[in-house]
Amino acid sequence: MESDKIMDWISIEAKWRQKWYAEKQFESDPDARKKFFVTVAYPYPNSPQHIGHGRTYTLADVHARFMRMLGYNVLFPMGFHYTGTPILGMSRRIQENDKELIEAFRTLYKVPDEKIREFSEPVKIADYFHQEIKDGMIEMGYSIDWRREFTTIDPFYNKFIEWQFRKLKEYGLVIQGTHPVGWCPKDQNPVSQHDTLGDVEPSFTEYTIIKFRYDKYILPTATLRPETIFGVTNLWVNPDTNYEIAKVDNEEWIISPECVTKLGFLNKKVTKTGNITGTELVGKKVKIPERNEEVFILPATFVKSDNGTGLVMSVPAHAPFDYQALEDLKKNTGKYANLPSLSEIRPISIIETEGYGDTPARDILEKFGIDNQNNPKLEDATKELYAKEFYGGKLKQNTGKFAQKTITDAKEDVKKWVLENGNADILYELNESPVRCRCGAECVVKLLDNQWFLNYSNPEWKEKVHSWINEMKILPEEIRNEFNHVVDWLKERACARQHGLGTKLPWDKNWIIESLSDSVIYMAYYIIAKYVNAGQINAEHISDSFFDYVFFDKGDLKKIASDTEIIPERLENIKKEFQYYYPVNARHSGRDLVPNHLTFFIFNHIAIFPKKYWPEEIVVNGSVLMDGKKMSKSMGNIIPLRDAIKIHGADSIRLAILISAELLQDADFNQEAVRGIKNKLENMLDECTKYKTAKYTVLAQEDRWIQSRLQQLISKATSSIQKMRLREALHHILYEFDSDLQWYLKRVEAKNRTDYSGILHEIFSARVAMMSPFAPYIAEEMWFRLGNSDLVSKSSWPTPDEVKIDLLSVQSETLLNMTLNDIKNIIKVTKMNPKKITIYTAAPWKAKAYQKILERVTGGDINIGNLIKLLISDKETEEIKKDPDFVKKTVNDILSNPQDERDSKNKVGLVDEVMVLSELESLIKNEYGISLQVFSESDQNKYDPKNKSRTARPYKPAILIE
Ligand SMILES: [Zn+2]
Repeated sequence: MESDKIMDWISIEAKWRQKWYAEKQFESDPDARKKFFVTVAYPYPNSPQHIGHGRTYTLADVHARFMRMLGYNVLFPMGFHYTGTPILGMSRRIQENDKELIEAFRTLYKVPDEKIREFSEPVKIADYFHQEIKDGMIEMGYSIDWRREFTTIDPFYNKFIEWQFRKLKEYGLVIQGTHPVGWCPKDQNPVSQHDTLGDVEPSFTEYTIIKFRYDKYILPTATLRPETIFGVTNLWVNPDTNYEIAKVDNEEWIISPECVTKLGFLNKKVTKTGNITGTELVGKKVKIPERNEEVFILPATFVKSDNGTGLVMSVPAHAPFDYQALEDLKKNTGKYANLPSLSEIRPISIIETEGYGDTPARDILEKFGIDNQNNPKLEDATKELYAKEFYGGKLKQNTGKFAQKTITDAKEDVKKWVLENGNADILYELNESPVRCRCGAECVVKLLDNQWFLNYSNPEWKEKVHSWINEMKILPEEIRNEFNHVVDWLKERACARQHGLGTKLPWDKNWIIESLSDSVIYMAYYIIAKYVNAGQINAEHISDSFFDYVFFDKGDLKKIASDTEIIPERLENIKKEFQYYYPVNARHSGRDLVPNHLTFFIFNHIAIFPKKYWPEEIVVNGSVLMDGKKMSKSMGNIIPLRDAIKIHGADSIRLAILISAELLQDADFNQEAVRGIKNKLENMLDECTKYKTAKYTVLAQEDRWIQSRLQQLISKATSSIQKMRLREALHHILYEFDSDLQWYLKRVEAKNRTDYSGILHEIFSARVAMMSPFAPYIAEEMWFRLGNSDLVSKSSWPTPDEVKIDLLSVQSETLLNMTLNDIKNIIKVTKMNPKKITIYTAAPWKAKAYQKILERVTGGDINIGNLIKLLISDKETEEIKKDPDFVKKTVNDILSNPQDERDSKNKVGLVDEVMVLSELESLIKNEYGISLQVFSESDQNKYDPKNKSRTARPYKPAILIE
């Protein structure tokens, strides 16, 4: 709290922000420099941004600022995504006077009452939060070129999206058909991630329904493994479920009540005609399709009525659940009436897989230690066996014409075969049910007739996308396969809705293009938006030829210019500007957009643009926790970003979000940490006023050391940022730097030096420059207090100067620092009151032996016997005979050093330890007020009452404290 009074962050931030905008620092136009085009998904303005939203934008901004300092012409633009239904839903709730929503606007988002009244009009909601979000982005210091701002309901944008869709249709990628979609039964509209509570993508899986027959009824089971029909030994019902008898098209089905509902959305005519309990079904026999055999219906509690059809076919040889349920039933036969004799029911093995016996299900149950059907580990066991058999299994002789086929092939073949014979059907299940629409209704899978779909099933399209995903840069690397996986399962996707804001489908104006379809190539539109906003072009006379010209360089300039009423020169400039900035060099996004937006972004760029314009890199980040907990409205722990800025200042928030995690991990926004960071920044700012530029000529060892360290830190920080490992970069810049500075100050103070201001000024300047992408405001203030007149954000990123790296002084200072630490530890542990300290460095032959051992170990030889032989055979090191233990200890010393440390020691050669350690005298005098002496082990006149010197090793001096 105290620090809040000392420093006025808000006015410091305002001051520098004003400078940035006055100097048009973030406005980017084509010039002779190399360009860097970085983008983030434009926000959806239906609420203010909170801390969680801040992460992706902050990462992208650091990236933009870093590249700018490296000399790139960086374009970082922003738009606003108005498309879709959520805003519509909100305004409807306002019209209905929804108390809860109005209260949330009032208290959580602090929207003035007169504004809330306007919210009955959807666009007013979007406009209000658009401004709110934009102000927040400006306050956060994001280096955005605001001249390129737009919304997705701007008339020119509509023309752009119409062009996009006509292209896709021309290429056969927009198709009309009947396909399953995630669906809100209340809104009567398809739903995607943006429409669901908790932003869940309503993805679903296709199951095969196998029709078993009992009397005149069909008992359908849903399965992912149709090929296991040959191994069915019985059917499972849940004895506690009250099943429905229903007329489904022209058949009579027995299914769970939930299944009746699901089938209704899949275009089946379903009429309920009666009920039958699970218990009544137990003991009845059903006919297995294609096998002309009958099996019993048995009871099992793992069967859930909301899963599939509420009935399960049992394949105990290959399905762990089924095997276990049979075992459980055998122990419990008394519990059910009508139970047939179970002794004849034996697993039928139909798949051969290496590493498994005749009954793989039993093998895997044993492996997982499972002994009842309610064990939660059963899911994992099932998954493991499923994968093993899917990728490595082959069907056995008892599977008829499918024998010897791999499971990968047989699965589809068997499915087709049963479907053709009328013994199967298809059912879709949401993967993460229940998924709720924002309106509160539970989503379902609906088979939608005659809708417009983007054909993400198209195999050639998929193939191109796969190959680009494998070629492009994706950070972090581990996310690459996630993309490939999404491409594999993506199917036709409904791309138009009946309500909502957005662009009308150009050839069927009853439909509006939905939000995950009008947001896939808009990065190209940032080029055009600048000219629209400047009033230099307008939508009125724009036709497809304009976009063909700008994006494809196609068509006749004069004709298009006259048709569009744009002067030819301007049209030419727009095209050149597009050619300059495209492709997108880096797109930043949260991980939740991998299964939809980011993948669609790749798909559509590949469909529409030539290869040179395909996106170069995608950077994916994890989410943000608040004090270790997930942020949610119900938890009441959502902090609007602008509120947080008022309390903590933008820089502290930026650092707190970045420093707690690397890309994919969840970042934790923790109040304690923010305060710590704020203090640290304020202390750094104080330091910056202390040192002034000054010439220096003679450099002491510690000066050469701190300069060397600076070069090393610059290299490390630069390479960390290039890999977007920002947490690591901040660790180098903030913490490693700090401990180095402390050591340096300790050294110069012990020597009573007063001539180091110029050196520290240089060090601080480089550090502040490196801070500036992360904490841009305070870095400007620091830069200013260091005496610079220009902006740090305009300065160049520091480059390491190899000439300034002095490995000898690095090794020497490390030796000094470590020896001092050893002394402190001894004093602390022994609790003694030291009177006098004596240090012994290793004898010269040991130093030579060390060099030889180091060389050998570097070459990969750590055989102690070999090393001893080698050393004895050399006159210089033959004394090893007296102390063979030295070899083993030295090898261990060397192995405990990291590789770069070993390399550095190798390069440096011998260090004059007596001279280096003599520098300890002043440090010890300062710290303990006592004297210190340094002797070489080989010194004949040394003071060595305890015979300590013989234990000295290179870089490990012996210490005597009295
Ligand atoms: Zn809904």
